[in-house]
Amino acid sequence: MESMAILNPRTGKSDFDLPVFDHDGVCAALLPLRNNQKTWWEAGLAYRIDSLLLLADALAENRQAIIDALVNDTGRVSESALEVDVTIGTIRRWCAQAPDLLDAQGKKKAEIPFIEIQQSYLPYSLVGVISPWNFPLLLSLVDAIPALLAGSAVIIKPSEVTSRFVQPLQTTLNEVPALSAVLALVTGAGSTGQAVIQQVDSLCFTGSVATGRKLAEVCAGRFIPAFLELGGKDPAIVCADGDIELAAKALCWGSMVNAGQSCMSLERVYVHQSVANKFIAKLVESVQKLSHNYPDIKRGEIGPIISEKQVQIVKSQLQDAKDKGAKIMCGGEVVNLGGGQYCQPTVLTNLTEDMLVVKEETFSAILPVITVESDEQAVSMANDSEYGLSAAVFSQDLEHAYSIANQLEAGAISINDASLTALIHEAEKQSFKYSGLGGSRMGEESIRRFIRKKAFIRNTGVPSPWWFD
Ligand code: NAD
Repeated sequence: MESMAILNPRTGKSDFDLPVFDHDGVCAALLPLRNNQKTWWEAGLAYRIDSLLLLADALAENRQAIIDALVNDTGRVSESALEVDVTIGTIRRWCAQAPDLLDAQGKKKAEIPFIEIQQSYLPYSLVGVISPWNFPLLLSLVDAIPALLAGSAVIIKPSEVTSRFVQPLQTTLNEVPALSAVLALVTGAGSTGQAVIQQVDSLCFTGSVATGRKLAEVCAGRFIPAFLELGGKDPAIVCADGDIELAAKALCWGSMVNAGQSCMSLERVYVHQSVANKFIAKLVESVQKLSHNYPDIKRGEIGPIISEKQVQIVKSQLQDAKDKGAKIMCGGEVVNLGGGQYCQPTVLTNLTEDMLVVKEETFSAILPVITVESDEQAVSMANDSEYGLSAAVFSQDLEHAYSIANQLEAGAISINDASLTALIHEAEKQSFKYSGLGGSRMGEESIRRFIRKKAFIRNTGVPSPWWFD
């Protein structure tokens, strides 16, 4: 099998050879899945729950080995531990919820009284998952878990940038043979992903808008559903009556956590002019306290930029902002520390709407702050975006906060807090505009993405009046 050299984000050196599955390799990995899926489905939900709970236990036992691989993938420690723990928690949560959510056996009378309807469903046989580099483990399993519970087999193609975790995950998976029969991991870049899409019956994709668009076209051609979770440029609005200290603290966290490498990172703030100076001072004070996790990986909040490609995007957005007259309140550079590329925690002001850092997804520890004259102007500027993932509003008048939230074109709005969708998974939401397509993975409803509804329609014994005499 061919392989590709992968860079370590902390050293900038390649230290990992990633096996690349070609088309034939993907087909070979898929073949047993299709055969085994029938048994997996017919074994029933209780069996599938037991198998997934065994996986949760095996993940807990192999926790450290997986964390170690994720640390090498991403150059960060606490987030890597959190990824494993959240994944285990997600498995247990879905296992508890699935019996109620997948109970579709109810009978009901049709409008025509002698007809009875019984609802049933059949899962998609084979679900493909293609995931990005910012949360390698979690975003590979977050859709796979409900799909498996629903009765599908799953093939996962994680990002080539961060696939070191696949080895210890596969070892863990092998401890639960019932599950390794219906869940496969294949590694490689875009061409491996293309081979996956050609074979599966449904696709869950998390990644950039540009790739999402390409994949959606292929899925449309194949008439298979594509659930796309894409990029964002999440706005926050700080109203004149917002709690300024709270807003500064929340937005410092919401924009800088994971070095800004989260889809629901707050990437622009619109602050009312009457509180702008105070807010900016508090924000800068908080951001300046943050430091890089270098040289000691266990200290500091800001890790390296994980993807080499992203380094270029961040650098060019910063340069564009500087060239067009942005004021750097703190940070402002991508620095090389021991071979890794780290973005200094940055706050920008004096911005114009044509700057890349205001318009395009940055995915880094950079927060542009724009002063506005009114909440109407803030809403209009926040909505002037091709993205609509999530947003935040700060106002101490709750009625006002909800009224602003109502006007924002995004699927989830945190009120008097930031990026709550990262933590709260039970809220039903969707991604608006180019931030996604199809039902979202958030909320209980999301498990139904993996089933096809069926109806058994029975005549209870009355000769139908519409039959020919
Ligand atoms: P990306 O689009 O470059 O890659 C994502 C995945 O697609 C990778 O596994 C990659 O190998 C694969 N891929 C690339 N080209 C392909 C092709 N032609 N055919 C099939 N597969 C292909 O995205 P990325 O840079 O890895 O991730 C960052 C992006 O992900 C950001 O835009 C971020 O906002 C987004 N994201 C969104 C969410 C969400 O829930 N909405 C969550 C996390 C990340």
